Formats: sequence, C-alpha cells, structure tokens
Amino acid sequence: MGYDDNNIFAKILRGEIPCKKVYEDEHALAFHDINPQAPTHVLVIPKGKYVSMVDFAAQATPAEQAGFLRAVGKTASALGLDAGGYRILANHGANAHQEVPHFHVHIFGGKRLGPMLSGGAQPRG
Ligand code: 5GP
Repeated sequence: MGYDDNNIFAKILRGEIPCKKVYEDEHALAFHDINPQAPTHVLVIPKGKYVSMVDFAAQATPAEQAGFLRAVGKTASALGLDAGGYRILANHGANAHQEVPHFHVHIFGGKRLGPMLSGGAQPRG
C-alpha cells in the first residue's frame, strides 16, 4: 500500500489541521488524540511518510527509528506518566483496526488500564 498524502496525520504535519501538541522534534510529533480512550491518550507520529509499523521498520533510517523511539519516551515523560505507568500500542492493518494510514503509536495513561485487550482472546475464524 502506498502512502496517502491526504491522510489526516499528513495534514496535521503540514499544519493544515490543528492539534494539541505535546512534544515535537526533528523526527516526531506528539499530540492528544481527538477521541481519548483514557485520561491521557496521546499519539506520536514520525515526520516521515510511513504507512504503518511494517513500513517504518523496513524503510525508515536507523536515525529516524531511534529518534522516533526516543520521542515516544520523551513524550510519556513530558506527560508525567513515568511514575504511574502507561501503555504504548501501534495498530497495523485491518485486524488491528488501523484507521489512519500514517504510522503512529498510542500512549495511554492516567488510570489503571486493566488487561491488555478489551475484547479478550477470541478464536480465529
Ligand atoms: P488507529 O486506529 O489508526 O490506530 O488510531 C487513529 C487515532 O487517530 C484514533 O484514536 C482517532 O481518535 C485519532 N484521530 C483521528 N482523527 C484525528 C484528528 O483529526 N486529530 C487527532 N488529534 N486525532 C485523530
């Protein structure tokens, strides 16, 4: 799948759509999710054009990958989540219900988040 320049996060990166910014550096931008699923729910996106985790892992330079990972950590720290703990999550493709085709990591925190998956373990098929 090619990268769609009109996806919503591309528009946020270009400044065409506003966001509530938490952190930004040369590699990444972090902003609050518009539909939060926890008291703190922030998205961290790389500045490069990568569709998802698969694309980012295969195509991004080592500097981009390291910079992005560091930005995720810095964002969580800036949000004051280190002491209480938090969860990071990245959706890839249909099974994971990825809605926006620009790679992103969700950071959830601010409460006890409970078990890993709300849907539980359903058999495939
Ligand atoms: P995905 O399901 O692709 O992993 O998650 C996409 C996330 O982007 C969702 O949690 C959704 O609420 C968030 N989102 C979609 N559109 C916007 C937007 O215009 N602004 C912000 N801040 N978040 C958005």
